[in-house]
Amino acid sequence: MNNDFSLSKSLFIRGLQCHKSLYLHKHHPELKDETPASRQALFQSGHEVEIAAQGLFPGGTTILYDAGSYDRQVELTEEAISQGATTIYEAAFRFDDVFVKVDILSKGKGGWNLYEVKSSTSIKDVYMPDAAIQYYVVKGSGLPVSGVFLVYINNQYVREGEVEVEKLFVVNDVTSEVREMQSVVEGELDTQKTMLRGDMPQIDIGPHCTDPYDCDFMGHCWSHIPEDSVFTIRGSKTLPFTLYRRGIIDLHDVPMHMLPANQKLQVEATLEKKVVVSKEAVRDFLDSLWYPLYFLDFETSGAAIPPFDGTRPYQQVPFQYSLHCLEHEDADLKHHEYLADPKIDPREELAGKLVGEIPRNACVLAYYAGFEAGILQGLAGWLPKYKDDIDTILNNLRDLAVPFKKKALYHWQFKGSYSLKYVLPALVPDLSYKDMEIQDGDMAMQAYFRMQQSDDPGEIERLRNALLAYCTLDTLGMVRLIERLKEFI
Ligand code: SF4
Repeated sequence: MNNDFSLSKSLFIRGLQCHKSLYLHKHHPELKDETPASRQALFQSGHEVEIAAQGLFPGGTTILYDAGSYDRQVELTEEAISQGATTIYEAAFRFDDVFVKVDILSKGKGGWNLYEVKSSTSIKDVYMPDAAIQYYVVKGSGLPVSGVFLVYINNQYVREGEVEVEKLFVVNDVTSEVREMQSVVEGELDTQKTMLRGDMPQIDIGPHCTDPYDCDFMGHCWSHIPEDSVFTIRGSKTLPFTLYRRGIIDLHDVPMHMLPANQKLQVEATLEKKVVVSKEAVRDFLDSLWYPLYFLDFETSGAAIPPFDGTRPYQQVPFQYSLHCLEHEDADLKHHEYLADPKIDPREELAGKLVGEIPRNACVLAYYAGFEAGILQGLAGWLPKYKDDIDTILNNLRDLAVPFKKKALYHWQFKGSYSLKYVLPALVPDLSYKDMEIQDGDMAMQAYFRMQQSDDPGEIERLRNALLAYCTLDTLGMVRLIERLKEFI
């Protein structure tokens, strides 16, 4: 057994979510799931936001994580304070066997202020214990603390020129809430430390496994859940756990009378491995389309810190599209594509090429067309010279997800979803994302970020080809889905 029972801010938050998760982290870290690449990307993005927020209090001293052990970081913080520093980034403190790093520590008139920087655009419940444990430790270590603040992203900010950090961030005073939580923090710390000295807590899986964060022990704790389980039932957050708590885990054991119509269709189709088709509804959808028929898909990136003039935090900026075209039903399939140079603002070049390739009379089909519509509206707003052409595309935009969302066609392998990632392999099994380097939109965004940062022409070329292959498959998949829909009627 690991005899290190010390805690940190993140371990305290882990323990608040689930004592078993904290216990496993301390005593059985080998049972942890692999860290997904998307979490690493989130971490990087969070770090960029922290650095940007330091601009609110310029000229501070940084206590780096790699400056040494926890004790060394605490020493360096004490040294900085004793030498008269009035702003410290990543200041380190230890008290009651708990180690914390404060994003920004700034000296005010009545004492020190703690600023916790978040990448989100609103305050979430979990941020309060996060701030409260910092106050507990910093104050407990002897530093007079006069205020605690949460710093988060203002999603109304629109960049014009250099980023204005005072406008990019919202600073919210949570001092009184944090003070009120101190006895709860102290009690919970005692409970967690006692728990760590005992046997592993017997905690069953539950909604807490993904709330507020995805637990990284799910591979271990959920290993008794079969592939066709009640957790594949979509459309209800509570139903799967209601069934699970009654001892119903396998889909075969689900009493059909407990299921609403949509879920009943899903479970029956899965159990009988069947495809359910409403020919009339599929025909109605196909009749709503016309030729020339263009299949459009964008890839986008959305950064917390707006990269270009006229963009807001997390605004999705398109950097790539794929466009397959059928001029008439029997025409040869044509393909156009665009992938931006990662060093430029791609909007004008992309929009100019796109409106030149889509005729004004074309029916434009996208999957989850609401997303493509949002991108097009953003482009039209920023580029008035293309507004008329883009508005025409918007008027002619149709959504291929509709027949699957409305269950005009439901295949048992959709697993209750109408995402292209399920629909495509079920209906067009020879087209698959499985062996591709990029398999979803998040990976595409990360690949584009890597292209922006890389100086290696070989890597840039490889990523470029992977992005082109991925986006092409999305629109080619749509072409093939239309063919499949026609076969079903
Ligand atoms: S998977 Fe769920 S039960 Fe298991 S440790 Fe994580 S939160 Fe706790």
